[in-house]
Amino acid sequence: MQIQESVLLAPYTSFKIGGVARWFCVVGDQFDALEAYEFAKNHQLKTFVLGGGSNILVSDEGFNGLVIKVVNKGIEVINNNDNDVLLKVASGEVWDEVVKFAVKNNWWGIENLSRIPGSTGAIAVQNVGAYGQEASKVIESVAVFNKETHQILNLPAANCGFAYRQSIFNSADKGKHIIFNIVFKLEKNGKPNLDYRDLKMKFQGQSPKPDQIRQEIIAIRDKKFPFPKEAKLGNAGSFFKNPILSPEAYQALKDRVLGEFGKEKVDELEKKKFLDSTILTAVKIVLKENQLNLVKVPAAFLIDLCGLKNLQSGGAGINPNQPLVIINQTGQATARDVLNLANIVRQTVLAKTGIELQFEPELIGF
Ligand SMILES: Cc1cc2nc3c(=O)[nH]c(=O)nc-3n(C[C@H](O)[C@H](O)[C@H](O)COP(=O)(O)OP(=O)(O)OC[C@H]3O[C@@H](n4cnc5c(N)ncnc54)[C@H](O)[C@@H]3O)c2cc1C
Repeated sequence: MQIQESVLLAPYTSFKIGGVARWFCVVGDQFDALEAYEFAKNHQLKTFVLGGGSNILVSDEGFNGLVIKVVNKGIEVINNNDNDVLLKVASGEVWDEVVKFAVKNNWWGIENLSRIPGSTGAIAVQNVGAYGQEASKVIESVAVFNKETHQILNLPAANCGFAYRQSIFNSADKGKHIIFNIVFKLEKNGKPNLDYRDLKMKFQGQSPKPDQIRQEIIAIRDKKFPFPKEAKLGNAGSFFKNPILSPEAYQALKDRVLGEFGKEKVDELEKKKFLDSTILTAVKIVLKENQLNLVKVPAAFLIDLCGLKNLQSGGAGINPNQPLVIINQTGQATARDVLNLANIVRQTVLAKTGIELQFEPELIGF
């Protein structure tokens, strides 16, 4: 395995932004991983594990350590019965190709996660979710290489700490593992998940197959997200997470919206908010029964409400079709431009609604 010096990271990210990695290597197996971590240890370097670079913002100064890009490949059916199939997928596989493969075979469980850029390993990191489906619902186990012990561990999903956009891999155990493969359990006789409003409307009274759902999801997503490879407008998907509020916090938000923007906007908010069953399951463990009426508020609505839809900072801008997304509008945006813009959004939304938005992409080298 080759360890390269001074590699520009911008081309490895979907934002097409970011400075140089002091060191950079590509790992395909545990032996490469071992070599990479030994090198980092000997040179006292920080490490960062890179997948497809579609959920990160790298600073203009780059990363003063070793970037480890995971590229192992392989999709294998390891069990197949009348009801379900177990699919073992290597981290370096492009996620959307995995979805395409499952849908082609008429297997259910990930069709709503179509057209999400990035690699398969990262799916477990932020428990990727979209249009009513979530990775944690189909993950059986995750095989990881431990940075300290150099052992391969097979973690059952129950030990991965999955919650809304969260797992042990981006919280308690952050930076401790390289995920090498994930086993997914997909159903053969599944049912369409049409919880999401646009899907429900499109397929009213019908029972669509996974491939029909996939096509519809692709059509919906293409209206909202510039797909970085094709649209040439770099971005990292949603830059802000949707806030999840207690009933009291939600009432306080409604009061603020009434005062600042009037009754009509409160009615709009009421229509747009939703109670998300996946969130409820995820947080049940830490909340008391009487606190379970959590409300997920679309951050895009709040950004739009605050008149920020066409905001720009240097080469970065808000995507008017989906204000959750910050785009590298000129192709020359710096990480500083993106962060300035994100901070203006955060401060304005906080000042006008009392809600503090959280960033979704990971900030590297800041
Ligand atoms: C247009 C667009 C739309 C998107 N839509 C969605 C969406 O609907 N829902 C959603 O949840 N996300 C969405 N995203 C975000 C992103 O696609 C996902 O988070 C994706 O899973 C990131 O994969 P990646 O391989 O690019 O990860 P990277 O950006 O490379 O890394 C993200 C994190 O995962 C870690 N990581 C990556 N690979 C490994 C590995 N093998 N082992 C250990 N750690 C690893 C990294 O260290 C980092 O912490 C979108 C992004 C874009 C650009």
